[in-house]
Amino acid sequence: MGAGGAQAGGGPAPPPAGDRVPFSRAAVVGTEAAHLASAMSTARLGGDGAFGRRCEAWFRAELGVASALLTSSCTHALEMAALIAGIGPGDEVIMASYGFVSTANAFALRGATIVFVDIRPDTMNIDETLVEAAITARTRAIVAMHYGGVACEMDSLCRIAAEHGLWLIEDAAHCTRTRWKGRRLGSFGQIATMSFHETKNLTSGGEGGLICLNDPALEARAEMVREKGTDRRAFFRGQVDAYSWRCLGSSYLMSELGAAYLWAQVEAVERILQRRGRIFARYRAAFAEAAADGRIETQAIPPGAESEGHIFYIKLRDAADRAAFIDHMARAGVIAVFHYVPLHGAEAGRRHGRFHGADRFTTRESERLVRLPLFYGLGDAQQDRVIAAARAYLAAG
Ligand SMILES: *Cc1c(COP(=O)(O)O)cnc(C)c1O
Repeated sequence: MGAGGAQAGGGPAPPPAGDRVPFSRAAVVGTEAAHLASAMSTARLGGDGAFGRRCEAWFRAELGVASALLTSSCTHALEMAALIAGIGPGDEVIMASYGFVSTANAFALRGATIVFVDIRPDTMNIDETLVEAAITARTRAIVAMHYGGVACEMDSLCRIAAEHGLWLIEDAAHCTRTRWKGRRLGSFGQIATMSFHETKNLTSGGEGGLICLNDPALEARAEMVREKGTDRRAFFRGQVDAYSWRCLGSSYLMSELGAAYLWAQVEAVERILQRRGRIFARYRAAFAEAAADGRIETQAIPPGAESEGHIFYIKLRDAADRAAFIDHMARAGVIAVFHYVPLHGAEAGRRHGRFHGADRFTTRESERLVRLPLFYGLGDAQQDRVIAAARAYLAAG
C-alpha cells in the first residue's frame, strides 16, 4: 500500500515496513490449501462444480434466499442484476452517491441514468426519506448498499419499491450475516449481491462474489445470464437436449478453485466473524469517550440493524483534520485509509448520472471519514498500537 502518506521532515521517521500495521489483509484460516488440492484432484475446475454447489447451498440456507449463485465478483453480480432486471437506455436507477463505483457502473453499462440521492450522516447509508421524491416515470430500480454491513432502513425501502413497482436491489458487499429486524440482509430485494474480494469478510481467494435471487421465477434467468446467456446449466441437469443462446449474458461463474477456497472460509465463518466483531467492539470502546465529547463521530447502529465488524471508521472535523490524522498515523506506522469519493462529482458520474435534491451530507461527510485497520489477522497488540496512535492525535486537539 505504498508509503502510506509518510513524508520526509514531518516528525520522526516512519517505522520500517515490517513494523507497519497494514490496513487490510485477506483472511487465511488454514484449510484453504487442502480444499484447493481436493478440487484440483477432480479435474473439473470450471464453475458450477461440487465446492461451488456446496457454497451456494450454504448461503441459500444461511441467508434464507430462494437462490444463491457464485459469481466471479460482486461487480459482475451487479452487472447480472442489471441484465436480469432488464435495465436499458433511458431507465433511471436510484442509489446513494457515497458508494463504490461498481454499483453505479453496472447500470450505466446498460445505458441507464443514475439518480443519486443524499445519505444519512449517522450510518452513511442512503437516506430513505429522500427516495420517493427522486422517483420519475423512468425509474426502474432502487439500490440499497448496506454500508459496513449496517442495514439501510429496509421497512421504508421495501414499501417504496413495492408501491411504485420498482426493483429493489441490495448491494450487500459488506455483509455476511447481518440482519435488519432479525432477517438477513440480502433477503429483502428481489436481487442482492455480495463480494468475496480479499478485503471483505470472507474471500474466495482474492476475487469473487454472489448473487441472491429472492423470487424463484428469476433463478432460471440468472443461471442463463451467468452462463453467457445460454441454458447450459439446464443442459447439464438434463432438462434440455442442447444448449443455445437465449438472452444477453456473459461469463460470470466463479471457478471451482475460488469456491474451494471460499468453502474453507465458510467452514470458519464463526471464527472469522467473531474475531472481526471483537476488533470492532474494542475500537468502539476505545473511541467512546472521544465520540461522547463530540471530537469524532462513529457509525450509528440504528435499532433493528447490527454490525459484524466489516468497517470501523471515525469522522474527524473536516478534510484537513483527516489529512493530518492519516499523516500522523502513517508516522506511527499505521495505514489508515478513506473511501468513497462521491460518485456524482466524478467524471463518469457526471456523464451517467445526476444528483437529485441537495448534497447536504454526501460530500461533507465523505471528506471527514477515515477507516482504521480491521481484518481477521489483526492482533490485539497491533490494534492497541492503532488505538494509542489515534488517541494521541485526538488528545492533541
Ligand atoms: C467491494 C464492493 C463491491 C465490488 O466487489 P468486487 O467483488 O470487488 O467486485 C461492490 N460494492 C461495494 C459496496 C463494495 O464494497
